[in-house]
Amino acid sequence: MTATTPGLVCAHHHLYSALARGMPPPPKTPTSFQEILEEIWWRLDTAIGLEMLRWSAMLGALEALESGTTAIVDHQESPNAIEGSLDVIAEACAEVGVRVLTAYGISDRHGPDGARRGLAENERFIRAGGHGLVGVHAAFTCTDESLQAAAGLADDLGVGVHIHVAEGAGDIHAPQRLEGLTRDNWLLSHCVHLPSEHSLRGTILHNPRSNLNNAVGYADPARFSNPVALGTDGIGANMIESFRLAYVMQRSVDVACGPDEAWSWLETGWQIMPEARNDEVTWSYEPMDPWHLAFTPGVAPLEVKIGGEVVFTDGKPTRVDGDEVRARAAEQAARLHALL
Ligand SMILES: [Zn+2]
Repeated sequence: MTATTPGLVCAHHHLYSALARGMPPPPKTPTSFQEILEEIWWRLDTAIGLEMLRWSAMLGALEALESGTTAIVDHQESPNAIEGSLDVIAEACAEVGVRVLTAYGISDRHGPDGARRGLAENERFIRAGGHGLVGVHAAFTCTDESLQAAAGLADDLGVGVHIHVAEGAGDIHAPQRLEGLTRDNWLLSHCVHLPSEHSLRGTILHNPRSNLNNAVGYADPARFSNPVALGTDGIGANMIESFRLAYVMQRSVDVACGPDEAWSWLETGWQIMPEARNDEVTWSYEPMDPWHLAFTPGVAPLEVKIGGEVVFTDGKPTRVDGDEVRARAAEQAARLHALL
């Protein structure tokens, strides 16, 4: 028995982080979210170069296809390889055949020059016809000037801003810092520490596995009036798994809820990347219904069609050699890990 759905959308991903798995442990064990950023992610992203990024994105795109995810909303950060990084991601995804909406997450954490160059990368990529948003890492790593510049550039380009909001307690001032800047086309990732009543506009991106992994708490996205979509925050792109986790996390605080609401968050992805609705995934299971999937492990795609082209069938991608992608990604991961 098989069933067909449109392509799934991962509404918050970091393709640069696919090579993080197996990285050497940090010199000191992080004891807070801020230390997880400093000891793990900011050491990793400063070490990444464009060739590493290419194979990280190829691996991430391949793993998306293997999960029935045809569209990725990516958030890129590589402070020592900013220029051209969005092209590398777009080209890697195009090679595998996956749709991507990317953004460079600007930050002042390495000084104002980094934010300026990040903004320029967003502008260059989008003006050249790239499918992008303006990226901002988070309010707590940006000056007011950078936040205003990002919002202004997004308005000029007619696109939204993709930003992390109140992921950890260190960013609780985000709603005040972003007051008056947000628009309905903004994407606000995490919002764990955002008050239920707030004035921010945009879609909230819920990343249940990442929030658990970083011990930042439960975002409880059902409490917001904003639309909610589901992401992975860089830990793969398996959206059926993200839906299953989103459901049980909601259930852990609300025994009366069913899986329909978490499923509706998955469907919000099609408002961000509507083109994925035209993609076609044939699954190993029938029916693809939230009440079945919440309790059925191991559901996997048999065939994935993107824009009418079969890009995955018989367990393999059709446009690239999956074994080669994994081998090259492993080589680049070894290079990257040696720098940490
Ligand atoms: Zn993120």
